[in-house]
Amino acid sequence: MKHAPLALAGLLAVTLLSVTATAAVKTTPGQADQRFAQLEQLLPTPNTVRTASGAPGAQYWQQRADYRIKVTLDETRHRLKARQSITYMNRSPDTLSYIWLQLDQNIFKDDSISRRSEVAANSGTRRDSIGAGDSLSFAALRRHHAFEDRNYGYEIGPVRDAGGRVLRTTLNDTMLRIDLPQPLRPGTSIEINFDWESNIVDEAPIGARGGYEHFPDSNTYQYFLAQWFPRLVAYTDYTGWQHKQFLGRGEFTLEFGDYDIELTVPADHIVASTGVLQNPDAVLTAAQRARLKKAETAKSPVFIVTPQEALENEKTGTSQMRTWRFKAENVRDFAWASSRKYIWDAMGYRQNDAKQPFVMAMSFYPNEGEPIWSKYSTHAVIHTMEVYSRFSFPYPYPVAISVNSWERGGMEYPMITFNGYRPTRDEKSGKLTYSRNTKYGLIGVIIHEIGHIYFPMVVNSDERQWTWMDEGLNTFLEYIAELEWEENFPTFGDKTNVLDFITGYMQSQDQVPIMTNSDTIVQFGPNAYSKPAAALAVLREAVMGRELFDHAFREYSNRWKFKRPTPADFFRTMEDASGVDLDWFWRGWFYGTDYVDVSVGDIRAYQISSQDPETEFPLRRSEFAANWPESYSQRQNRAEGRQTRVDRYPELKDFYNENDPFVVNNKDRNQYKEFRDKLETWERTALDRAIKAGEHVHFVDFQNVGGLVTPLPLTLTFADGSTEEYQVPAEVWRYNAEKVTKLFIRKQRLVSVELDRNHLIADADKSNNITPRRIEQSRIELFKGRDSGRNQMLDALAELKGEPKSGEKTETKALPLQPAPPK
Ligand SMILES: [Zn+2]
Repeated sequence: MKHAPLALAGLLAVTLLSVTATAAVKTTPGQADQRFAQLEQLLPTPNTVRTASGAPGAQYWQQRADYRIKVTLDETRHRLKARQSITYMNRSPDTLSYIWLQLDQNIFKDDSISRRSEVAANSGTRRDSIGAGDSLSFAALRRHHAFEDRNYGYEIGPVRDAGGRVLRTTLNDTMLRIDLPQPLRPGTSIEINFDWESNIVDEAPIGARGGYEHFPDSNTYQYFLAQWFPRLVAYTDYTGWQHKQFLGRGEFTLEFGDYDIELTVPADHIVASTGVLQNPDAVLTAAQRARLKKAETAKSPVFIVTPQEALENEKTGTSQMRTWRFKAENVRDFAWASSRKYIWDAMGYRQNDAKQPFVMAMSFYPNEGEPIWSKYSTHAVIHTMEVYSRFSFPYPYPVAISVNSWERGGMEYPMITFNGYRPTRDEKSGKLTYSRNTKYGLIGVIIHEIGHIYFPMVVNSDERQWTWMDEGLNTFLEYIAELEWEENFPTFGDKTNVLDFITGYMQSQDQVPIMTNSDTIVQFGPNAYSKPAAALAVLREAVMGRELFDHAFREYSNRWKFKRPTPADFFRTMEDASGVDLDWFWRGWFYGTDYVDVSVGDIRAYQISSQDPETEFPLRRSEFAANWPESYSQRQNRAEGRQTRVDRYPELKDFYNENDPFVVNNKDRNQYKEFRDKLETWERTALDRAIKAGEHVHFVDFQNVGGLVTPLPLTLTFADGSTEEYQVPAEVWRYNAEKVTKLFIRKQRLVSVELDRNHLIADADKSNNITPRRIEQSRIELFKGRDSGRNQMLDALAELKGEPKSGEKTETKALPLQPAPPK
């Protein structure tokens, strides 16, 4: 706390109160002022397809593709063989002379752009952490061998139209262009037919979103098939044919349609799939069907296939085949899983609104997933729907499925999700345990992947372009759902608050804005998942408040369900539906890489001077004494008993020895009277009221260290110990985004100002969040110095563990130590 220089004290009265927003503002072009510039400078121009309010326009359109596929799973060769038919409906206003298919499996070909453009650091599987410098992991080497051993990608036959005519095609990496015999006019459709085959990827070494998993102990398999068939490339109003090749990271841009899929698999397999099973009588036993019926109204998950039955089932095999037929309406993709290993449980979920579809929540998992899968999976599926529906719309499909498919992580498709995490069996003791990370990882990943059925499976954002639009929004809702699953849910490691988790990333180097194309993002996880989730948490709790935010977010979800939103549609809707100008927020959090760090600076406290010399001069005298203590030398002189000359010769004293500079005289009294007389009545009233109440005037400085403009949730603490919560909106930075001074006039003297006590704004450096500063307290551990270096003689004395291999030397011949020769 600084004190005002004495000479100023008398002038303080009213003049300083007018120094506010008009204080000198230095805005560097392209810097401070840009932080509040209109976002329209960056967003695409609104039109009749996408309006300025962020809603789909009167002329909104999207294409549609319906699929019929008959596919056979060859378990001995790990291979799919299919006959496929697509009906493509051109609902755009454009005439199309060609259409494109996306062939995602081609990413695994030796000559794919994806594989050839890998750099050393990402040549491992996506699960492998990247080593430092020149390094090669076991996983990367195994992956190299897996690609060497087998060919992947589609073997695709001639593409024919409905009349059987062969159409000309051109393959470009993961995309296939089909030239149409006649241009496809608006409002018309075309049917194409083709056969294809492909090897199923061995998922563990290669790292893919689908494939097969081998269980070496029982020599059994499970298959989970994703991006397994050629799909129509999206044609949109904003980019025409989506022409970014599949490089592995940027996910999918897809059209909605209906699916009729026949899956022919070994007869002892259980199949989990997008869609509704059409022939339960042909593929399920009477007991299984009865259990499914019971599950509809059950209060906890019911086994359709029990763990014991699954264990029995996986022991044998069969050469018989059986066809499961599924239909799915209005989905943008289709995935499935098949294995003789599956335990299957189910529990019905009746939504609040009786008009909404009844949902069967189901889980499929091998015994290797037990006991945590039967305990948590289906509950997590239903919990997700409960929470997400409150923030968006009722779950729109009749089934919601979680399949245990791999070690960690997960992947989402319409109605079905593939999720990791299993317990581990200790090799020696045979004991089954699972870590805290496995338990919460499992619940978390299921919430996350089921959540994706809302975003982007229904709110069909363009994942190839913008990862944050599905991952960010979804991680935000996942976070909310996890806090509602269990308090202190460890979503972000040991930190339960996403805002405490994200600060490290936001201060880091090598960052790109959230608004970056998926395939070029660095620090992918924090960029596209946690930072947008943190941004939305700040928006909801610190900027907009829950009521405005929740309404706007629901509005966005409902405007764009079963449609294709772009970032601008999200930004615009959130502002339009809430009446909150968020241009500064989108700029800072989504288009920039600044972080939040505001330092609470000086507090300067004043009381308003009455200018009455009778009261002010004595105050000045005591202030002067407090600020300027007597000279040390003078005090020492007195301590030594040294007398001054004036003490020794009192006749030297005069007027000035009797009157210090703070003595009131008539001139001062006259001046004061003159001052009072010149005041307007309202000025006198204001002054007298403040004096009577003893009002305190405080100037508090804030420095924007991180650069990102932010609201300032403050806790003001007063001399009597009382506190006041005071939220300064982010607009406080609109004239000067570097430094602001706030004025607080209060009846009580302010003793401290604290910023972000509740951790609401992701402020990165908490040490500068309070004035006066706190001394940080922690514990320090002592460390012991350690000898480094190898003692070869000692190492030679160690005993060999286990049996020596033949020819292995087990002893080192040490030369006898010679005593040092006498000098
Ligand atoms: Zn995700």
